[in-house]
Amino acid sequence: MALRTFRSLALGVALAALVALPPAGVARPVPKPAPAPAVQPAANAPHLIVAISIDQFSADLFAQYRSHFTAGFARLASGAVFPSGYQSHAATETCPGHSTILTGVHPARTGIIANTWIDQSVLRGKKAVYCAEDETKAAADPKDYVASVGHLLVPTLGDRIKALWPTSRNVAVSGKDRAALMMGGHVIDAVYWWKGAGFTSLDGRTLSTAAVNENKALGEVLAQGAPELPLPDWCKGKDRAVPLGGAFAVGTGRFALAPGDKNGFRASPRMDRATLDLATELVDENKLGKNATPDVLSVSLSATDYVGHGYGTEGTEMCIQLQQLDLALGDFFIALDQRGLDYAVVLTADHGGFDLPERLEEQALPAAHRVSKTLLPDALSAAVAAKTGLDAKDLVLSDGASGDMWLRRDLAPADKARALAALKAELLANPEVAAAFTSDEIAAAPAPSGSPETWSLIDRAKASFYKPLSGDVVLMLKRGVVPIPAPGPGYVATHGSPWDYDRRVPMLFWRKGMTGFEQPSPVETVDIAPTLAALVGLPVPAGAFDGRCLDLDAGPGTTCGAHP
Ligand SMILES: [Zn+2]
Repeated sequence: MALRTFRSLALGVALAALVALPPAGVARPVPKPAPAPAVQPAANAPHLIVAISIDQFSADLFAQYRSHFTAGFARLASGAVFPSGYQSHAATETCPGHSTILTGVHPARTGIIANTWIDQSVLRGKKAVYCAEDETKAAADPKDYVASVGHLLVPTLGDRIKALWPTSRNVAVSGKDRAALMMGGHVIDAVYWWKGAGFTSLDGRTLSTAAVNENKALGEVLAQGAPELPLPDWCKGKDRAVPLGGAFAVGTGRFALAPGDKNGFRASPRMDRATLDLATELVDENKLGKNATPDVLSVSLSATDYVGHGYGTEGTEMCIQLQQLDLALGDFFIALDQRGLDYAVVLTADHGGFDLPERLEEQALPAAHRVSKTLLPDALSAAVAAKTGLDAKDLVLSDGASGDMWLRRDLAPADKARALAALKAELLANPEVAAAFTSDEIAAAPAPSGSPETWSLIDRAKASFYKPLSGDVVLMLKRGVVPIPAPGPGYVATHGSPWDYDRRVPMLFWRKGMTGFEQPSPVETVDIAPTLAALVGLPVPAGAFDGRCLDLDAGPGTTCGAHP
């Protein structure tokens, strides 16, 4: 099977290269006796925390496929299973979602309100700022940006562990820079993500031997191409084309890889396999799990998201993707077992997802449809200008037909108030709109509390609201309105809404020997950091987390110890 060949190829190179060299570009202090830390890890602390995010792995997908999983997912499903984890906030995008997982706080406190936001500062003018860029620096390529975790306002679990136990290692790898950086954090020993045709790191860091070797191995696969992946029997009912205009259809893909097709590689199970191969190699290179204090390895697997965006969630493509991911995760855990490591795993997702409306309409959800162009910023600018007499140019700014929207910053206060009222009225009059909240309304709302499934829409908006960056208005589309006006190759379906198909994700915890249980009541991804902090005995100041420790002991014992 092609993937086996690829794995053995990749691992073969890596094993041959296992030499006791520090990773290039990572500052390693000269070894010397470390003073005993004031706080010791919990007596039964795992030596390695493996935090896995499956990008766009909704609770719906987990529920739909869990009976078919035989390998990695099946192992995790024998642990503590929380099938209704919540990315509780409204802006269910990759960067905010990843920012909650290991910080234990909502985007309102991580400062990561969206993947991008509009910055109208005097110096820079209207510009979409990417959540994982340092916009104060210019990249060598003017079309590029300088990757950075600087917008993340809080420490991650890895940051906290390293601050207390400097010998611990904090390593992150992903198909996406924002995922690796938001899970890894500010003090990160090794961080890699896919860019172009291989894995890269932060500016100024040299690729380590593991990354160089992985890039070589996957580069050979890319150059040669690869055959179709097999369609499991239980996927065969999904093998039906959904036409999207012209020669363009989705639903029957098999992931044959044409030589040199970088985007085809990225949006396929081979991307996740490569990420897990590199993760395994980074375990060896950084000697993870062999410290006296716990290490953290963050792995965010991006292909499920690219497959969801490119083909939707209910075709052969997602079916093959999830089976291959199950197998790849299984091999990854076996590799950790073979190293004799005592590790604890959490697996979750940054957000959920929703199928393409053309298939949803056929499959008993006729209310699903694509958003009209009347909610795009130029159309809204024209409408608000017509009502107020203000200049329409850049009057309303946004990066799409939902979420945060900004008014042009040079408006006089009275004009801004008129424009705001006109914009809100225009939005609420639109039959596709569920809610439109102004910044002042969200700021005045109380902090959300109680079970996330019962949160109101403004509660959800509040958890995404950070006043210095958030828009003047937040637009929420009705359930089932997909914010892609017209589908195109690679982008037919999406997430990002405040509805549960985008908020609800599985949360699975596993450690060798644990007694599993299932807790169907809603929990939150902000519960993950306090749960893991307690598991390793990391003291954290009161109020540091929005979430709570989840007791992973199925019986009368507790893993929440003295740090619930
Ligand atoms: Zn994502």
